[in-house]
Amino acid sequence: MEPYFHLKGAFKTSADVSAACADIERFIEEAKATILQKGVPAGRGARIIGWDIKDNSIFFDIESDRYLRAHDAFIRLRKPLAGVLGKKYRIGIRGMEIEEFIVKLPSEQALRQHKIPYVREIDFKDGMITLTLDVGEAELEKKIPDRIISLIEDKIAAQSFGGKAEHWSLLWESPKKEMKFKGDPTIEAERRGWIKHGVGRGQWIHGPQMTQIFRTFEQIVLEEIIRPLGYIEMIFPKLVPWEVWKRSGHAKGIYPEIYYVCPPKTRDPAFWEEVMDYYKVTLEVPLNLIWEKIDKPLGGMAYAQCPSFWPFLQGKIIADDSLPIKVFDRSGTSHRYESGGIHGMERVDEFHRIELVFIGTPEQVLSHSKDMQECYKHVFNDILDLEWRMAWVTPWFMAQEGMIGLAGRDDVGTIDFEAPLPYRGKDGEWLEFQNLSVNGDKYPRGFNVKSQSAEDVWSGCSGIGLERWASVFLAQKGFEPEDWPDKFRDKIGEIPRGIRFM
Ligand code: ATP
Ligand code: ZN
Ligand code: MG
Repeated sequence: MEPYFHLKGAFKTSADVSAACADIERFIEEAKATILQKGVPAGRGARIIGWDIKDNSIFFDIESDRYLRAHDAFIRLRKPLAGVLGKKYRIGIRGMEIEEFIVKLPSEQALRQHKIPYVREIDFKDGMITLTLDVGEAELEKKIPDRIISLIEDKIAAQSFGGKAEHWSLLWESPKKEMKFKGDPTIEAERRGWIKHGVGRGQWIHGPQMTQIFRTFEQIVLEEIIRPLGYIEMIFPKLVPWEVWKRSGHAKGIYPEIYYVCPPKTRDPAFWEEVMDYYKVTLEVPLNLIWEKIDKPLGGMAYAQCPSFWPFLQGKIIADDSLPIKVFDRSGTSHRYESGGIHGMERVDEFHRIELVFIGTPEQVLSHSKDMQECYKHVFNDILDLEWRMAWVTPWFMAQEGMIGLAGRDDVGTIDFEAPLPYRGKDGEWLEFQNLSVNGDKYPRGFNVKSQSAEDVWSGCSGIGLERWASVFLAQKGFEPEDWPDKFRDKIGEIPRGIRFM
């Protein structure tokens, strides 16, 4: 079944157009074979199934398939029609009015979501979703119908994969390793007093021992990745305003996982005095009262680390001698509202990550991603001695549409680095402990970044999660330094004794 578009709309004119009727008819007959056929396979596209002249307007009834959508056909007619009326009759087109706009899209199922802006009605019958759009001239100009259509198409595709988010394919796999430990590293680390639950949800206080492990990982990353690959350090903001997430694309989907940040409505102490007094008298924090005194969220805590770097380049043309750019940030935490299983150190609401961002021509970015993969292999094989693998992951609906690189192609997409956790059993799910993405021109386009002489600017990034590295390493190697690989033991030195309690 094919998509179907049906639009009834009129061009408002500055005067009565009855006198131009014959010319309009000639124009329409001609348009059918010219304007409406441009770039459209023969016999396809939009058809004018009716037209009429009513008062100060010219009415069209247009039907189409996906090759030239009815609303695009309608817009295409406007300018040349205005030419016909203007020259001979001195009549102008003043605007457009949409009486009815119906879109039908093939789908195996009804849509789950029934609240979509500018959509008055959604129906499902006989393998077709029917949308009744409520749009006018302003919405046509802002391309709202196109966005509604791609939104619905994405939803249909996502639904048909039944919640399976990613297409997964193996790129590389290490040999099997002897596992030195069978337990859950979080439980063991807690038992030893290396970590303790923070008061916040999904948050840990890392004792001196775990901190030393984190810092050793960081040192390995500095020595084996950051220095050899020529990265320089920067500090990225950790409170991210909507404006940044709009440009990075995160505004499309991260709402269920954001830690929202609300500013006070004012910093006038008098405005807050009742809150202070309430607390002083009751020793309860008056949440409802605070709720009234804070503003809407201005954004959220860092989710991915790199978006808040990009305003540094926004609107700029990067000089050739600065490319490729290689910068990293390790200046603070990332925050996600995770669901369920946050008992462990591996999935937490507050985590520590080193983020590496690389920017250059497509060739530079692709070859850098290869170099980086080699550095990582060295770290995980020769220093940490892990059992691990790299997998190419593509969101399902994108894989389906061939929108971005498919399995095995070195193109735009993400590599997940995964490792087995022995305590989860032989067939337990492998844990993603870091990733490496080539994002194509997504960020440069979003933040309007150009290069002095390269046609395209691409970027990539890699997020090294320290909690995840620790979870994998301790799960496989355990807590006894004599079980740890020599190279790692040399780097970490003596584990501090930590704090003793009576
Ligand atoms: P998962 O599927 O395991 O939740 P993700 O796909 O959400 O991971 P990314 O968005 O790719 O993870 O984030 C990049 C990296 O950030 C991960 O590889 C991991 O190292 C780290 N990370 C992400 N979420 C968490 C978390 N909740 N706790 C600890 N580290 C995390
Ligand atoms: Zn990133
Ligand atoms: Mg996640």
